[in-house]
Amino acid sequence: GRLKEGLEKTRKGITDKVDDIIKHYHKIDEELFEELEEVLIMADIGFETTETIIENVKDKVKERKLTEATDVKDVLKEELKERLEDVEGDSKLNIEPSPSIILVVGVNGVGKTTTIGKLAYKFKNNGKKVLIAAGDTFRAAAIEQLNEWTNRSNVDLISHKEGSDPAAVIFDGVQAAKARKTDILICDTAGRLHNKKNLMNELNKIVRIVNREYPDATKEILLVVDATTGQNAVMQAKVFKEACNVTGIALTKLDGTAKGGVIFAVQSELNVPIKLVGVGEGINDLQEFDRDNFVNAIFP
Ligand code: GDP
Repeated sequence: GRLKEGLEKTRKGITDKVDDIIKHYHKIDEELFEELEEVLIMADIGFETTETIIENVKDKVKERKLTEATDVKDVLKEELKERLEDVEGDSKLNIEPSPSIILVVGVNGVGKTTTIGKLAYKFKNNGKKVLIAAGDTFRAAAIEQLNEWTNRSNVDLISHKEGSDPAAVIFDGVQAAKARKTDILICDTAGRLHNKKNLMNELNKIVRIVNREYPDATKEILLVVDATTGQNAVMQAKVFKEACNVTGIALTKLDGTAKGGVIFAVQSELNVPIKLVGVGEGINDLQEFDRDNFVNAIFP
């Protein structure tokens, strides 16, 4: 389906090359592992994660007394699945029990607004009462864009004018969510990364308000990162994890990039579960992350 289509370039960057290498070796030896290592690094899986993967594959090959190069592929696939399992926390969004709040954080341009729009549409279709708070008050375009998404899915939006205090918008969003008995409140936040201290202060203030005003709500802090930025996505994710208690990651723009391998680096270097993947610009192009489907799509 959509995932497999979207991951075509990533699949080519990994599987085709792995197949090529394996064809050139009959027996398993050190050089084979070195070539595989290079493919994984080129596929944006990240240096540390690649080292771990290769070490584990070597151990398994030894344990199982494998000798044929063709056997390595299955071990590698198994290992990729295990790397994606090796994370603290659930890969499902924390939205149960109702009411719940999803704070969406991330740098400008990564696909935050789009992800919020897609999520709201999905929840609404599942019969949930949804409300969005336009917490990115620094960009008029962000408020306008959210407005368009909410019109499409017929969801309410709480917004103030451009330049107002983001914390005030979130405060109002929470009060409205309580008054209207909303199931899920989705809060947008500003994504200016030019000043780490500012970012931390802003996010901390918003988190404090949410916790104080709605202590019993189920909470998710969803970080959105852009797969096309490769290792930069990992760096950004680290900054946000320091700034707030990120509980899940949405990895966007996996379609059309060969850098889909970054999913391994993001999850394992951050130890935060990937929860959603974006595979297109359309309203239906946001999927719940499933490790097996993902690895099967890049490694058929
Ligand atoms: P924001 O600044 O983080 O709110 O980013 P936007 O939501 O405005 O998205 C920036 C651009 O990325 C827009 O053109 C979106 O259509 C596009 N985009 C977002 N998610 C995806 C995705 O999963 N795949 C593709 N191809 N484009 C996406």
